Amino acid sequence: YRSKARGRGSYTLFTPDMVESHKRKLLLANGIEKGLTNDEFVLYYQVKVNNDGRVIGVEALIRWQHPEFGLVMPNEFIPIAEQGGKITAITRWVIKRVCIDMPTLKQWASSPFRASINLSGHDLRSTQLFDYIYSTFTAHNVNPENFEFEVTESAYLENFALSNKFFRRIGNMGCAIALDDFGTGYSSLSYLTQITIDTLKVDRQFVMELQTSERSRLVTGAIIDLAKRLSLSVCAEGIENLDQWDYLKQHGCDNVQGFLFSKPIPLASLIDSPCHFNSEEFA
Ligand code: C2E
Ligand code: MG
Ligand code: MG
Ligand code: MG
Repeated sequence: YRSKARGRGSYTLFTPDMVESHKRKLLLANGIEKGLTNDEFVLYYQVKVNNDGRVIGVEALIRWQHPEFGLVMPNEFIPIAEQGGKITAITRWVIKRVCIDMPTLKQWASSPFRASINLSGHDLRSTQLFDYIYSTFTAHNVNPENFEFEVTESAYLENFALSNKFFRRIGNMGCAIALDDFGTGYSSLSYLTQITIDTLKVDRQFVMELQTSERSRLVTGAIIDLAKRLSLSVCAEGIENLDQWDYLKQHGCDNVQGFLFSKPIPLASLIDSPCHFNSEEFA
C-alpha cells in the first residue's frame, strides 16, 4: 500500500478503500463491451408530465445490472465510459433500445409523446452519430417526432460548430432538442442566440432550493422567463412535492419530472402505471 512516487522519504498511502475503488473502476471500464453484448444494461424510464397531469414523454435513464456489483448508476459508469472511449457504443445501444421499446411506449401513452435520450459531449464530436440515428430509425420504422435528445450546455459548447450542425440535422428530421441541467455550468448566455433548441431543462438544484431560498425562487422564475422570451418550452426536473410543482406552474413552467410522479422504472412497470396524474391523487 505504499509507493515512493514522490521521491525519497515521501510516501503516498493507498488505503484498502482506495485500492478497492480503483479495482472497481478498472473492472467497470474493462467490462463495458462484454456488458453490452451480454445485455447487462437496462433502460429505466421516468415520466414527464404537463400542467394538466398528462404524461407527455419519458426520459430514458440507463443502469448497469453488473454481474458482480449489482445495479450500477450512470453517474458512476458514464464518466468511465467517456474516458475509455466507450460512450459511443453505449449511446448507440440506448438509441436502439428506445427504438425497440417505442411501439410499446406509444401504445401506453397518449399523443403527442416523446422519449428523451441523453447524449454526452463525446457523441457530438463524431459525425457518424447522425447516420447511426437515421439508419436505426429507418430500420425500426419509428417516427423521429417521438424522440427528443438531451444534452448539457457544457457538452453542447465543447464543440459549438459540430453541435450546431448535428442538432440542425436532428431537428430537421423532426426530433426535439433539450438543453439539460440548464444554469449549472459556467457558460455565458450569448450562445443562446445562436442555437436551435426546443426546450430548457431547469436543473434539480434550483427545484430543491425553491422552498428554502428566495434567491433560488427568483433565479428559477428568471430562467423560465428567459426561455419563454426565446419561445422555448421549459421542463423542470427533480420535483418531489406539490409546493414545488405549484410554484413552477404559477411561473409558466410547461412540464415537470420528478419523484412526485414517478422514479425512473423499467418499461414493464411503466406500462403498468397510469399515464395521467389527477390533482386529487396528491391530496
Ligand atoms: P439527468 O439527465 O439530469 O437525469 C436526471 C437525474 O435526476 C436522473 O438520475 C434521475 O433519476 C434523477 N431524478 C429525477 N427526478 C428526481 C427527483 O425527484 N429527486 C431526485 N433526488 N432525483 C431525481 P440518474 O438516472 O441517476 O442519471 C444521472 C445522470 O446520468 C443523468 O442526469 C444523465 O446526465 C446521465 N445519464 C443517464 N442515462 C444516460 C444515458 O443513457 N446516456 C448518457 N450519456 N448519460 C446518461
Ligand atoms: Mg437528462
Ligand atoms: Mg437533467
Ligand atoms: Mg440534472
